[in-house]
This record gives sequence, structure tokens and C-alpha cells, in this order.
Amino acid sequence: MKVVALAGGVGGAKLADGLAQILLADLTVVVNTGDDFDHLGLRICPDLDTVCYTLAGLANPLMGWGRMDETWHAIETVASLGGPDWFNLGDRDMGTHLERTRRLRMGQPLSEITRVFCQAWGIESLVLPMSNDPTPTIVLTDQGELPFQEYFVHQKCIPKVTGFRFEGSSRAVPAPGVPDAIREADLIVVCPSNPWVSIDPILAVGSIRASLQPKTVIAVSPIIGGKTVKGPAGKMFTELGFESSAKAVAGHYGKLLTGFVLDQVDGDDEDKIHSSSLEVLVTQTMMKTPEDRKQLAADVLSFGYKILSDKIDRKEK
Ligand code: GDP
Repeated sequence: MKVVALAGGVGGAKLADGLAQILLADLTVVVNTGDDFDHLGLRICPDLDTVCYTLAGLANPLMGWGRMDETWHAIETVASLGGPDWFNLGDRDMGTHLERTRRLRMGQPLSEITRVFCQAWGIESLVLPMSNDPTPTIVLTDQGELPFQEYFVHQKCIPKVTGFRFEGSSRAVPAPGVPDAIREADLIVVCPSNPWVSIDPILAVGSIRASLQPKTVIAVSPIIGGKTVKGPAGKMFTELGFESSAKAVAGHYGKLLTGFVLDQVDGDDEDKIHSSSLEVLVTQTMMKTPEDRKQLAADVLSFGYKILSDKIDRKEK
């Protein structure tokens, strides 16, 4: 089975890792780059790096982002010299940003740089940025418009959200490889990433959303028992006037979905979400260990396989 996974950072990377353990080169991960920004003269791509470090087994297991065995001398030096230290960058991680920035300045596209890095890190699955064109996410808040990292890291998600803008996304071109991967995929998996600021920016790029319409698309809820495991997705749903629930996540994606996976603690909602056009799987979706990631990936793939087989059966009748 050929699979395309859409992913943000921490939640997305964990399921992408489970899928990669099973599918190897049959998996393409299309990653959000709406969070990317320039800082300390470096181009930083937080979600791409989280996905790559996780697939390469280099990620910090406690934080879920950044690298294991990290030291912080460079950022401490920046702080001691009066520079900004609100965005934590480890020394090893900074090496990635230095080399990426150098290559970008030489004119290499982000997708090509990512390919080179993935090869160096021994990643078998294909990891693609959603686009080589910058499409920065702007968070609309009660304190005005904030660039994503200003809202997310500097202001710790405290401002109340009223909406989002993905600058330049309708004119942006999907990165080379993205349209082909989607066309050739049997199954699209929307990872349990933040729907508002990790998945929506991907769907907003050029024709990506339209290209998913004819596909079999399964989303995994990032909201378990009404709460996010980490991050502001639940808070965003509430501030935008929705309930913070798996059901609201399914509603958010709407007609895009063929299947939806929710956690067993939300099993009571199965009947409320299930419809003639939306299949539902209830399973354990909390990924605490690498085995949990693989198990959830296996559950999602069998669910996808069943939906695809049922479709073929219906066609043959
Ligand atoms: P970010 O860009 O680093 O915020 O990463 P993502 O958008 O990919 O992930 C954030 C989302 O992942 C949050 O809404 C979390 O609730 C969700 N998440 C994190 N870990 C898990 C997990 O183990 N299971 C599920 N179902 N969701 C998770």
C-alpha cells in the first residue's frame, strides 16, 4: 500500500514514525512549513526537523522536538551577549539550521535540501516540505496579528485566537514530488497534528486540498478526552467557538474524510461521528512508546485497507 501522511511536528511525527516502521519507502510524509521562520540569521523549519529527527531516531524523547544528547552553549552565548533567547535552539540542532541556511542562500530549494539531509540521516521514507514557497502562518488574536512563532513560543499561546491566515498559500506551488505522491497514493493519512495550524496550512497550498478530494483520506484525532496531548489545538477550538473534542476535529475536516480514528476514551462519540460517508475506528491513539506508534499505524493501515476493499466490493456489485 502506498501512503501519503500529512504531518505537523510532535503529534504528526510520532504517527509518521509508526507508519515509516511498517511502510519504509512506500511512505511519503508531506510536512507543514507554515511555522518556518528566520531567526538569528538562520532559516528554521520546526516541523520538518521534528519529523526528520523522529524518523532518523535522533529526536529528543522527552521534549518530542529537537535532538537527543543536546547541549545549549550557542544559545546561552547569544543570551549572554544580549541577543534573543526565547526560541530554544540546541547546538546540534543549530548545525542543521546553519547548513540549511547556507544551501538556501546558494539557491537550493527546500525540498532538495530535505532530500540531502534525509539521505545523510538514513531515512528510507520520503519526507517532503508541503511547498518550496514560504507561506507563513499568521495567527489573528485579540492582541492583533502575530507571526506563528511569536504566538506559539514567545507569547506561549496566551493571546486569544480569532482566526488564521496562511500568507501566499493559494499562489504557492506544492513541492516537487507532492502532486505525484498524492496521485499514486492508495491512502492519505492525516496525522494527529493540530488541524488549525499544522494541517490546514498544508491543505491551503495551491491545489493540494482539491487533489485529495477523490482519495481515501483517514484522519487521526489529536484531541483525546476533550484535551490535546500537547499544544494549543483544544484551546483554539474553544476560542473559535467550537467544543474541544474529537467530534469537532471530524467536523473540521468535514467532507475531506473517508475515515476517522478516535481514542477509546472517546468511544461513546462513535455513533455521533459515524455516517453513511464517514467510517469510524475506535482504538488506543495515545503514543507513549515507539511500539504504540507502530501499533496505531498498523490499526490505521488495516482500517484503510478495509475501507479500500469495501469500495472495490461495492464497485464490483
Ligand atoms: P506541533 O507542530 O509540534 O504542534 O505538532 P503537531 O501539530 O503535529 O502536533 C500537535 C498535536 O499532536 C496536539 O494537538 C496533540 O494533542 C497531538 N498529539 C501529540 N501526541 C499525541 C498522541 O500520542 N496521540 C494523539 N492522538 N495525538 C497526539
